[in-house]
Amino acid sequence: MGATVTSGTEHEAKSFAEEALRLSGKTEEEARRTGAMDKADEQVESMFAAQYQTANSPVHRAVWERSLPLDLFAPPPLPKEAPCDSAMNRCLEIVRRRRVANDLVDEKGKLSQSLFDELAAAGYWGMLIETQYGGQSAPFARFSRFLAQVSTYDPMTAGLASVHGCIGAVDPVRTFGNPEQKSRFLPKLANGQALSAFALTEPCAGSDLTALRTTAVLAGDHFEVTGEKLFITNAIPGRMIGLVVMLDGKPAVLIAELPKTEDEHFRIVPYGLHALKNAYNNGLRFNRFQVPKANLLVPPLGDGLTIAYHGLNLGRIALCANASGTMRIMLANMLPWAEFRRTYGQAINTRELVKRRIARMAALIAGSDALVTWCSWLIDQGYRGELECVVAKIFGSEALKEAAIELFMKTHGGRSFLHGHILGDNIYDFLAPCIYEGEGEMLGLAFFKTLVKQHARTFFEPIGKALQRANIRNPNLLNPMHAWVLRREMAAYARWSLGQKLSSRNHQGLPTLKAGFDDHVRFALKLFNGFAGELSGTMSRHQLKLADRQCRMAELSQRVQDTVVLLVTALWGNQQQNETAALAADFLCQDLERKLTGKRPTDSYFRSAGKLADLIISGGYEELAGAPQAEILMKYENR
Ligand SMILES: Cc1cc2nc3c(=O)[nH]c(=O)nc-3n(C[C@H](O)[C@H](O)[C@H](O)COP(=O)(O)OP(=O)(O)OC[C@H]3O[C@@H](n4cnc5c(N)ncnc54)[C@H](O)[C@@H]3O)c2cc1C
Repeated sequence: MGATVTSGTEHEAKSFAEEALRLSGKTEEEARRTGAMDKADEQVESMFAAQYQTANSPVHRAVWERSLPLDLFAPPPLPKEAPCDSAMNRCLEIVRRRRVANDLVDEKGKLSQSLFDELAAAGYWGMLIETQYGGQSAPFARFSRFLAQVSTYDPMTAGLASVHGCIGAVDPVRTFGNPEQKSRFLPKLANGQALSAFALTEPCAGSDLTALRTTAVLAGDHFEVTGEKLFITNAIPGRMIGLVVMLDGKPAVLIAELPKTEDEHFRIVPYGLHALKNAYNNGLRFNRFQVPKANLLVPPLGDGLTIAYHGLNLGRIALCANASGTMRIMLANMLPWAEFRRTYGQAINTRELVKRRIARMAALIAGSDALVTWCSWLIDQGYRGELECVVAKIFGSEALKEAAIELFMKTHGGRSFLHGHILGDNIYDFLAPCIYEGEGEMLGLAFFKTLVKQHARTFFEPIGKALQRANIRNPNLLNPMHAWVLRREMAAYARWSLGQKLSSRNHQGLPTLKAGFDDHVRFALKLFNGFAGELSGTMSRHQLKLADRQCRMAELSQRVQDTVVLLVTALWGNQQQNETAALAADFLCQDLERKLTGKRPTDSYFRSAGKLADLIISGGYEELAGAPQAEILMKYENR
């Protein structure tokens, strides 16, 4: 898993959020629930060696430290070869061949069992599993690149590899299983005999995971599970699922093997779902459903949410890789259409508006690729990647949504809505990633909270505690009594604040970068210089009411995220040999700079869009190779 288990002690002190919520008049219940979530998060944290924990992650250091660790934003190239490559190549060939032969789905329109079996024989389901259990031991950076390639052929097939390997049973068992559980489950998961899913969401618990109600009760040598799960991808009878339950009042994960047929203890709850049309997504109802006691995963620290959070980080990178492949399909289908479609006597691919869309699509692909490469490398290095994976998830899902609606749909006009058109047939699949694995804005708030947590602990929590001790609910520093109560805490904060203002940040090791990228990197560094003061100022301004200032937190979170994307994409673009990929990265950086400054686009920006689009139109983007091209609908004689 790349993480090192440490023997850190559990935090006894109430978390900042819990304290803040309580003091700001929230109910005890809300404070308790938020505290429980924080605790689970901290327990995941303590599984990683100090150097890989969030406070030492690239994003956290870039915001809070004096010197930005640029080398942690620019991963080295992947080794040319790895033992897992041959299995990956076999799998790619299977998906490509079946897609060309229109042989991916069965008569119900779902990815077929024969596809799963053929992929199983080629090693598809065991990519992340160690060779000793029959898997391919693929490093995550190779796996995520592979997923982007599979998505370019078929996004749903790639999506199921991520469900199985990242959030399904594979990651929980690999990371948290005991030796007996590993040898019992991993071989079946690797050879495809057991395909897996992850069952967390419930009708009452999606964004709010503290509301989980499915319970497990020990009865002899098994647990009896009662409750209902909702929206579970790849969940059908016979699957192996990572099942999140409440056990003795705490979340826990059981590895449950669903029976081959429904019975009075286990029922599928079917419903119509527009998204993921080529896969199964079902509700699951359990009534004293038996799971062997030996199937309980026991993390070294924490509880079931510790396990859930771990897999979700990998799933978020996989989601971004999937978005990258899917946008390649969109771009590969925009090009022939924009060449064919003529209005006012000219192909629309000669028009500036359409060219800008082509350039923007390539830019979004570049940004996704850069983030996937970077985050996967961090995971392989051993980082937890909490902040970084959220950036990739939000960027990938928002990019896909923009690509579908603003670029693909608009360029295809009315035909977008015809049956048989890629947009109309898949629009829900293009939008759903904004919701699953954490809705984007909710994740943005979590990003903010994670980013400011240590600073809050160091400077604001002591202030809150001093106020609590003195029973002051509305502090006012002009009140001499209040100022006296807070004198030590305020002095510590004032020292930090003064240090920020007086000392300039240095960015050691700024490498020699190609023209353009050098400017982008310097621009990102300049913004990073200001974030610590900006974040701290916001905390200081809103104090204990900050938890209610969601829009401000979301806005600040987005600014930091955009700056991270800008920096990562600029450094990635600088490394690209392919001119189109480099120009696409540059174009995204220009867009992000304008977004961050609010400046209007220049004429030279529009020219750069045209230049990039012309290069792509003339076939200079090899990244699109292998993407399926649908027939142009409602063709007419074109003269
Ligand atoms: C296609 C698809 C596949 C899925 N696959 C799986 C799967 O395999 N396994 C699984 O366990 N789950 C799965 N899910 C569930 C998914 O993870 C949840 O839908 C998601 O986490 C959001 O939960 P929810 O739908 O209950 O939203 P709700 O909790 O009902 O929230 C709705 C919205 O309200 C807002 N909101 C909620 N709380 C707050 C707050 N405190 N402050 C501000 N705004 C708030 C947010 O905008 C949020 O998006 C899937 C969902 C979909 C659509």
